[in-house]
Amino acid sequence: MTTMEKVKVLIIGSGPAGYTAAIYTSRANLQPVLYEGIEPGGQLTTTTEVENFPGYPEGISGPEMMADIRRQAERFGAELRSGIITRVDLSSRPFHVVVDGDKEIETESVIISTGASAKYLGLESEARFRGQGVSACATCDGFFYRKKDVAVVGGGDTACEEATYLASLCRKVYLIVRKPFLRASKAMQERVFNTENIEVLFEHNTVEVLGDDMMGVSGALLRKNDGTEHKIDISGFFLAIGHHPNTELFAGQIELDAEGYIKTVPGTSRTNIEGVFAAGDVKDPHYRQAITAAGSGCIAALDCERFLLK
Ligand code: NDP
Repeated sequence: MTTMEKVKVLIIGSGPAGYTAAIYTSRANLQPVLYEGIEPGGQLTTTTEVENFPGYPEGISGPEMMADIRRQAERFGAELRSGIITRVDLSSRPFHVVVDGDKEIETESVIISTGASAKYLGLESEARFRGQGVSACATCDGFFYRKKDVAVVGGGDTACEEATYLASLCRKVYLIVRKPFLRASKAMQERVFNTENIEVLFEHNTVEVLGDDMMGVSGALLRKNDGTEHKIDISGFFLAIGHHPNTELFAGQIELDAEGYIKTVPGTSRTNIEGVFAAGDVKDPHYRQAITAAGSGCIAALDCERFLLK
């Protein structure tokens, strides 16, 4: 049976942006309801050490930090629920939202903080070995490849960071870069070039991830831009080619940019729909930091509070 619930603030997503919005709106007595989605705690739960979030002079693990922020939101009465929003209707206020396909909610405002997800190349063989040697998170899975040979795809800061991290665990790391140069910052590039067991393969693309269903990944077939092909022997194949925003749910209803990020009025969290706010990586292709996401969750909460007071 369908049940209808009425709320003032509905927060969709549970990274630092969503939880911070929950802290602020619950302290403002708006009784927010937050749905945690597919990955409770968001991308930070797949990180190891966070050393640049102010207030943790010794650093803290990503999952621990998210558990702390979550507890802080709960302390002020935010309702944090597990569940996935499966449909939204933002065409008129109050907005209608469906959770897990059947539960209906009517809400006066929405804060979208659904974050972003890692991109994959789209190869069939890559999908086949996902979780069996193919990963988009070196910090989560690198441990399984100690003293083995692995490859990282990408030429940005993430790829360089993941390659140097893996180089500290693995015997050898291939960095597969499609251009003749790295896009990463100079400092990150230097780290890569100064790490003995990283071999950068410029102007290379992956044709196929090789392996079998029993043992997982055993290699990759690469093609150089001059057309020549060769194989490398690896046990792990890591993607670090960027992220895409989790906005599929809102497509056609809310204004997105060419890459699918939610557009907001500069300096605010306001979207093109009054009463709908966006915070964190779902609207930010540039900074993507825990602290910037948390800050933008605060902005969304304050914008939302002002909107509800009107
Ligand atoms: P970027 O978009 O910066 O880089 C993506 C990389 O993947 C590029 O080298 C790109 O190649 C490559 N790529 C994309 N698609 C493919 C494909 N289909 N096949 C092969 N290669 C592909 O993403 P990042 O995640 O590295 O960084 C995102 C943002 O986060 C950046 O602003 C970055 O500076 C920041 N960041 C900062 C860090 C830090 O300061 N410590 C750490 C991590 C990220 P091409 O160059 O040819 O387009």
